[in-house]
Amino acid sequence: MLIRLLSFALFQAIGALLAAVFMRAFAPTHGGMVVAALAGAVGATYFWLLWDLSRGLRVMRWLRSEQTREVAVESGLWGEFSNRIRRLLRNNERAVQQRDERLQEFLAAMQASPNGVVLLDKDFRIEWFNDSAALHFGLDARRDLQQHFANLVRDPGFAEYVAAKNFDSDVLIPGRASTASLPVRLSVHVHPYGEGRSLLLSRDVTAVEQAEAMRRDFVANVSHEIRTPLTVLGGFVETLQTLPLNDSERAHYLDLMAQQATRMQSLVSDLLTLSRLEGSPLPSSHEWVDVSSLVEQCRQEAGELSRVLWGQTHSLSFEIQSGLSLAGSATELHSAFFNLIGNAVRYTPAGKSIRVIACAQDDGSARFAVHDQGMGIAQEHIPRLTERFYRVDRSRSRDTGGTGLGLAIVKHVVQRHGAELQIASVAGEGSHFQIIFPPQRVQARPRAQAEFAPREIAAH
Ligand code: ADP
Repeated sequence: MLIRLLSFALFQAIGALLAAVFMRAFAPTHGGMVVAALAGAVGATYFWLLWDLSRGLRVMRWLRSEQTREVAVESGLWGEFSNRIRRLLRNNERAVQQRDERLQEFLAAMQASPNGVVLLDKDFRIEWFNDSAALHFGLDARRDLQQHFANLVRDPGFAEYVAAKNFDSDVLIPGRASTASLPVRLSVHVHPYGEGRSLLLSRDVTAVEQAEAMRRDFVANVSHEIRTPLTVLGGFVETLQTLPLNDSERAHYLDLMAQQATRMQSLVSDLLTLSRLEGSPLPSSHEWVDVSSLVEQCRQEAGELSRVLWGQTHSLSFEIQSGLSLAGSATELHSAFFNLIGNAVRYTPAGKSIRVIACAQDDGSARFAVHDQGMGIAQEHIPRLTERFYRVDRSRSRDTGGTGLGLAIVKHVVQRHGAELQIASVAGEGSHFQIIFPPQRVQARPRAQAEFAPREIAAH
């Protein structure tokens, strides 16, 4: 400010001086020089004001141009003024940038959410949504922003939910990609906030719903499976209690009762096996199980089963590569192997042949296969065979002591060992079930040294 006053005074002094010198040259009177000095000072004042105004105008133009990086005037009051404005603008710009960055981070966090997030204005029009919401509702950012959300999600349940304006709970609606064969269920919840705005959250609950439906089916199936033998048992008990029976009749009924009790025992035992498989840690990849001895155990059990069920013989052949070991749980592998061999025995008429093969393959994997010449399975049933309680032939399964859980157990064991179950079958001709174990779970003596031990056994 002082410099400004000094420059003003200096301008006036120079104006007065120049005018006085000029006057002295042409009319050197004292009075004339004083008047000339005063006029020079006034002229200099105007000149100074004009010069100052032009600097002010430059600053104004600079502010209007919004190109505030380079200041318009470097020095003086206007220079300081533009410098301060530039600093203020820069701080402001930095604050806006920081706020923008924070907003972007916040939006990125919402974007990363596995749940759908939609921000709606007070008219229920879309302001923003994340990728999950786009997937859930089939939204397109270029097309659907500012659209009324209820116009895009045309579900009667959702329309009712929005109309009722009662957002205490969620509403279940089908997802955009939902089809009859692949249903998608969404849980949608609106949370009002701010002045009439809404946050809409959507969650894919298909898996949860399916798990819940499976749990319900499972409980219903188990109850049904247990109730049937229990009802039969109850009937026999009543018969024994009420009817006068001779010894052979009594023995016959007791025999039938024992069969029902065995059926219940098998069911409970398979259920326990399944729950153990689901609840226990994955089988070790360091404990090696000798396949020959495991299959030898199955061979004896299969012979016994064949004799009990059919009373006659099956032609059972076993081709087991000696020295073949698998990493995993012996109990689980036995359960899987015997379920496959047992099924072959149960669904193959006596006299027909059943082949069991276990060998390492060229790529380092190992194959455990059971081929039978039994009744076979029609193609449409094959994808569902490993479902719990799924049976192709209900009465054959029951008559032979089946629980409908055998292949579900096999599937679990196979998955837990990182292996793959393959099923091929032709109705009326026979079935091939095989498990392929990954190389990391296989140890085998080199093929040249390994002997195969094909053995034909007849169950008596
Ligand atoms: P189950 O106790 O009824 O045998 P599984 O889960 O072991 O239950 O098998 C499911 C269904 O698959 C069986 O009910 C049967 O209809 C069919 N199945 C399984 N193995 C064979 C096979 N080797 N030959 C023909 N059908 C089979």
